[in-house]
Amino acid sequence: MSFFESLDPAFDRFVLGNAPVKQLATGYDWLEGPVWFGDAGCLLFSDIPSNRILRWTPGSGVTTYREPSHYANGHTRDRDGRLVSCEHGTRRVTRTEHDGAITVLADGYEGKRLNSPNDVVVSIDGAVWFSDPHYGIGSNYEGFAAPQELPCRVYRIDPLSGTLQVMIDDMNCPNGLAFSPDESRLYVADTGRMYEGDPQHIRVYEMRDGTPVNGRLFHTIDPGCADGIRVDSDGNLWSSAADGVHCISPEGKLLGKIFVPELVSNICFGGRAKHELYITATTSLYRITLNRTGVQFP
Ligand code: MG
Repeated sequence: MSFFESLDPAFDRFVLGNAPVKQLATGYDWLEGPVWFGDAGCLLFSDIPSNRILRWTPGSGVTTYREPSHYANGHTRDRDGRLVSCEHGTRRVTRTEHDGAITVLADGYEGKRLNSPNDVVVSIDGAVWFSDPHYGIGSNYEGFAAPQELPCRVYRIDPLSGTLQVMIDDMNCPNGLAFSPDESRLYVADTGRMYEGDPQHIRVYEMRDGTPVNGRLFHTIDPGCADGIRVDSDGNLWSSAADGVHCISPEGKLLGKIFVPELVSNICFGGRAKHELYITATTSLYRITLNRTGVQFP
């Protein structure tokens, strides 16, 4: 069987004909938030409903990294290599220090609680950017059902002052985030209310003096939605979709697909040369080796 569908000749060079979509672990409830730790030789990822952050290590499989995880969803690493996490249950963004202590980076804005921070990236200046849709407070499945106090937005946490700043407030439900390799662009996935038939698309913003401006439609995912997105070193965007992972050119053209047997939530690059794509998909963790280099810091 083929794991791929090539829609552009460029994609033929991105994939390896004999590299499988390999299931590394299964039996979970709903996986998200993969983040690669090359220095520790492992991948961390969230099983949100089971309130755990898990650790997959090549050769030894999955162990529990943190439980309870406060229904953690997306993760990334900051410029010092520290884990930065979005937590639904506590409605906050945290940083795990090198000694294991947990620092709260943000949990509210102007006296109101955040909704349920979902996905997070760190820019080259060390600022933490995160999305805050309402998915974690809509029911008790991935957090705690509670009233929504703030609009769904994208925020930036200043690396020096720690101040929280609203950066994007004109989207329905911002979700996955990714900067282009030179950080001249910010991509933001909008997954909408999910139940009302909203378009599932990715927007691109131009970064001007550190601010995202001129947001416009970049690409509409079909089928499914762009929950998690990542870029490779040539600026191609890789996105989750209902049938797997889609690869989209910087011009917004769908170049090809990787088919995954389960609904994909999030992805990240990892491995020795950041040439492996780790895929969280419903109950399972998958990996495929690509002829690509992902942008993943550190
Ligand atoms: Mg997400």
